Amino acid sequence: MSQEKKISVRETVYKKNDDLAEEIRKNMKNKGKLFFNIMGSIGAGKTLLLENLAVKLSTHYRVFVINGDIATTIDADRIAKHGVKTVQINTGGGCHLNANLIAKELEKINIDDFDIFFTENVGNLICPAAWDVGAQMNIVVVSITEGEYVVKKHPIIFKDAEIAIINKCDLDGLGFDSQVLEEDASKIKSGMKVICTSAKTGQGIDDFIEALGIEIPRDE
Ligand code: MG
Ligand code: ZN
Repeated sequence: MSQEKKISVRETVYKKNDDLAEEIRKNMKNKGKLFFNIMGSIGAGKTLLLENLAVKLSTHYRVFVINGDIATTIDADRIAKHGVKTVQINTGGGCHLNANLIAKELEKINIDDFDIFFTENVGNLICPAAWDVGAQMNIVVVSITEGEYVVKKHPIIFKDAEIAIINKCDLDGLGFDSQVLEEDASKIKSGMKVICTSAKTGQGIDDFIEALGIEIPRDE
C-alpha cells in the first residue's frame, strides 16, 4: 500500500470512530444519562478509584461500568463487589477502547436501567487519547509513583481531558511534590480541574464526584 493510501485508510478509521462516538454521546445526553471515560496508565489506580466511586454512588444511582483490559475480568469483578453493574471487555491485545466496542456493550443492555456510565479504559497514556468512546467527559488518572515528569511527557491525553486526577497523594514525599504534577496538569489546558486523590484513604473522592457534576443527596 502506498504511503498516501495508508494515511487515508487511517483517517477513515478515525472518522468512523468519531462519528459513532458522537452518536453515543448524543443518545446518552438525550436520555439524560452521564457517561465518563476514565483513562490512565497501568497501576495509576483507576480500578480502586472506581471502587471508591461505586461505594459512594451506588446507594443513590444505578451505575454501569465498562472495564477494558487486554485479558481477565479481575477489574470488573473488583468493582462489581460494590453494588454496581460491570462488564469486562477483553480487547485481546488491543491497547484502547473505541466507540464500536462501547456501542456493542450498550446494545446488550437497556440504557434506561442505569443513570451513570463509566469506562475504565485500557491502561496506557498514549492511544486512548486518540479514540473517542462517546463519553461526555474524559478523566485522566496518573499517580505520583509514576514520577515527576509523567504529566509533562503525555500532554496529548491531558488535552483531551476535563479532569486530571493525581492519585496516591497519600504517598507524597517521593523526592518531589505532588504539586509539580498538579501544576503541570493545569498548565496544559485552561479550565482543567486537577484533583489530588488517594483511592486508598478516600482523600479527594468527594471533590472528584463534585467535579463530575454528580450530586449526592444528603441523608436525612
Ligand atoms: Mg484497572
Ligand atoms: Zn491502543
